[in-house]
Amino acid sequence: MPPDYPSILNEIAEAAKSEFGKGKVANYIPALAQVPAEKFGIALETIRGEQFGWGDSEERFSIQSISKVFTLALAFRLEGENLWKRVGLEPSGNPFNSLVQLEYEQGIPRNPFINAGALVVTDVLLEHYADPKAAILEFIHTLTGQNDIAYDLEVARSERETGYTNAALVNFMKSHGNIRHSVAAVLDVYFHQCSIAMSCRELARAFLLFANHGAIPATGERILTKSQAKRLNAIMLTCGFYDEAGEFAFAVGLPGKSGVGGGIVAIIPGELAIAVWSPELNEHGNSVLGIKALEMFTTLTGMSIF
Ligand code: GLN
Repeated sequence: MPPDYPSILNEIAEAAKSEFGKGKVANYIPALAQVPAEKFGIALETIRGEQFGWGDSEERFSIQSISKVFTLALAFRLEGENLWKRVGLEPSGNPFNSLVQLEYEQGIPRNPFINAGALVVTDVLLEHYADPKAAILEFIHTLTGQNDIAYDLEVARSERETGYTNAALVNFMKSHGNIRHSVAAVLDVYFHQCSIAMSCRELARAFLLFANHGAIPATGERILTKSQAKRLNAIMLTCGFYDEAGEFAFAVGLPGKSGVGGGIVAIIPGELAIAVWSPELNEHGNSVLGIKALEMFTTLTGMSIF
C-alpha cells in the first residue's frame, strides 16, 4: 500500500504553520526580500507519474543554489570523472560562500555545491557550450517538459550588482589556475542560473531524473548513467545543505538540495521527488519550514534511504 500522500501533505502543512516567523527571508537583493514570508508550497511526484501538491506548489520562485544540481549533472555528463580533479567531494562544514577554506585548499573547492565549486562547474560548461545559458535552460525544459521556464533577469541583474563575494571566489580560483574562462563570463552564467524561476511542481518533476537512476521517467530518455546518478545523489546527501548537511541527513535522511530562495528538493531513489518552498531561512541559508516539512514527510511515511 502506498502512503496516503494527500493526507500526509495536509498534516505537514498544518504542523509547519507553527514554524512561521522563526526564519528570515533572504534580503541580499530586493527581488528576494520582497517575496512574502508566508508563501508555502509542497509538490511530490512519483516515478510512475502520480502528482500531489499543497499550497503554493504551482507558483514559481527563485531556485538559486538548486540550479547547482542541474549544472553539475550537465558538467558530469560531459567531463566524467575528470571533473573531480578541479572540484572535491567532501562536505565543507563552512558557509556556502566561504573564502577561507578555498585559500587553505589552494583554489580547489571542497565540493560542487558550495559557491566556489559551482563556479568551477559553470566554467566547465563554458568549455563545452557556445551558449551555456541556453544549454542550462534547454536541459531544464527537457527534464520538466515546461518550455517557458526562464531566467528572472531582474534577479540576475541584482545578483551581479551585489555579487562581490562570488567575484572574489572566481578571481581567487583564477589566480590558482582553476578557472579557464574570463571572470566576467563565469559570473554572468552563474548569476543567471541562480535566477531561474521554477515551481515546486516543476522542481519535483525535474529531480525525478535523480530518483529514477539517471533516466527521465516520462520519456525514458537516459541522461546520466546509473553510476553517475548514484554519485550525484551521494553528493546531494553529503553536501546539499552546506554546513547543515549533517543535520539534514540526521533529521530527514534524503539526498537533496536547498537554495536561498527558500526551496528544497529531495528524492527517494527508485520512488519519488518532493519539493518544498517557504522563503524564511535559518542561519545556514536553508528554509526553516522546508526542513521541518521534509523531516515530517520521512517520519510520517516511514520512507528512508537508510
Ligand atoms: N545567489 C546566491 C549566491 O550565489 C545563491 C546562494 C544560495 O542559494 N545558497 O550567493
